[in-house]
Amino acid sequence: MTDFIASACPYCGEGVEIDIDRSGGSRQRFVQDCPVCCQPWEVEVTRDSDDDWEVMLRTADE
Ligand SMILES: [Zn+2]
Repeated sequence: MTDFIASACPYCGEGVEIDIDRSGGSRQRFVQDCPVCCQPWEVEVTRDSDDDWEVMLRTADE
């Protein structure tokens, strides 16, 4: 099962939606390109104890 979480691109600031895999682990990291500016994000998805998902987007060159 997948879901989407709204976030913002760390490069161009555009609002974006991250596709998360709810059947995966409570902490997932992957690289995905921004659909707006095509820069690579380092995406970290975490699930907290309330079963809420949170997305962090970082620039991959940090
Ligand atoms: Zn962008």
